[in-house]
Amino acid sequence: MKITVVGGGYVGLVSGACLADLGHDVTIIDTVSAKVDMINSKKPPIYEKGLLDILKRTVGKNLTASTKYENVSESDVSLICVGTPPKKDGSANLDYIKSAAASIGEELKKKSEKYHVVAVKSTVPPGTTEGIVKTTVLEYSGRNDEDVGFSMNPEFLREGLAVEDFMHPDRIVIGSSDKRAGDVIEQMYEKLNGDVLHTGITAAEMIKYTSNAFLATKISFSNEIGNICKSLSIDVYEVMKGVGMDHRISPYFLNAGAGFGGSCFPKDVSALVSLAEEKDQNPILLKSVLDVNKTQPLKMTEILKSRLCSLKNKKIAVLGLAFKDNTDDIRDSRSIPVIEALILEEADVFAFDPMASDNMKNIYPEINYCKTALEALKDAEGCLVMTEWPEFSKLNDEFNQMKSKIIIEGRHILTIDEKEGICW
Ligand code: NAD
Repeated sequence: MKITVVGGGYVGLVSGACLADLGHDVTIIDTVSAKVDMINSKKPPIYEKGLLDILKRTVGKNLTASTKYENVSESDVSLICVGTPPKKDGSANLDYIKSAAASIGEELKKKSEKYHVVAVKSTVPPGTTEGIVKTTVLEYSGRNDEDVGFSMNPEFLREGLAVEDFMHPDRIVIGSSDKRAGDVIEQMYEKLNGDVLHTGITAAEMIKYTSNAFLATKISFSNEIGNICKSLSIDVYEVMKGVGMDHRISPYFLNAGAGFGGSCFPKDVSALVSLAEEKDQNPILLKSVLDVNKTQPLKMTEILKSRLCSLKNKKIAVLGLAFKDNTDDIRDSRSIPVIEALILEEADVFAFDPMASDNMKNIYPEINYCKTALEALKDAEGCLVMTEWPEFSKLNDEFNQMKSKIIIEGRHILTIDEKEGICW
């Protein structure tokens, strides 16, 4: 199939590259020319395991990138993968979606004989695909919905494991208003093994928000239980191990610690809250999920402060800046409020991350960035572990180089011999 992917970020680039690797003819369109140039030079603008190899295999063969919306009407499918960032009030900003739909519509006007499906992969509030994408595409193309189909096909990949997740999905959700459009999208994925679920368009939009809200709820729930356990001197990890053995609950997303970050969970839960409030609902549970998550990282700095009395002019190591391991993405990372609090306390912050330091320098140029964990830990009076990088679990002697071994674990990954200093 010929596929146009609109937006070459985490979702668009990974989806486009993987679809090309599955044999489709793919063009990725992005408005940022530097990204387009990098993709065409086989250099991924983001880090994702396996992506470089795919670009090497496909660019110049059946994958290309462009800043121009060309040849959309020659393709069978356009996948909209642009960002839907949060507005100040928490609702989703749909400007990029609208602009992408208008550009697709303009292109579809040029050649109108071929059936084309516009599918939304971005996470969008229920009603967006039909209310904004469909109306805009039809308005700009002058075509009708008999020869342009519409689908909402949410993406569930996890950054850091994006290629693996795309190629081996648990499920492929295809929302469509008519069978013809849904079948085209199913055909696009025919080489993948995930279970396919056909739904209505708004249900598909809601499935994505609900999945993220549920996972975020599991994390905030675990953090709340963790805080109660702490006050009772009970090991929350022992508790959650026992709880997660129940197959109705599952062991995933039950780790108490620093809370959830990233470009999806915080923004999607906020968007769902805002959507509910627009409809005069009061989503108290979802609001609490966000409240718990907001205060959670600051509990780490509070514990540190209570141990050291004052953080002023004290060297504090921050291990991990990315919102999770195996990515350079720092969007809404829990290390951000922690660094903010440490700066306010006038601590000397020494941060280390295997991949995300350059991105964090754009937000906090004033702190120290180290080349190794040891450099951050040496003579430090406290350490906060913010990201579950596997290499942090191998650190051991490095912690003995600290001036005082106070380690606050935000991710429960350390395996150091002497557990004395560790607390959470
Ligand atoms: P991103 O910011 O990494 O990428 C978006 C890209 O779209 C950018 O490169 C931007 O330049 C480009 N763009 C913006 N407007 C454009 C336009 N009019 N035409 C062409 N390109 C345009 O965002 P992302 O992380 O890939 O997320 C995209 C969507 O997918 C969001 O709705 C997000 O919630 C959802 N999502 C993200 C993830 C994830 O893990 N990142 C997972 C599932 C779903």
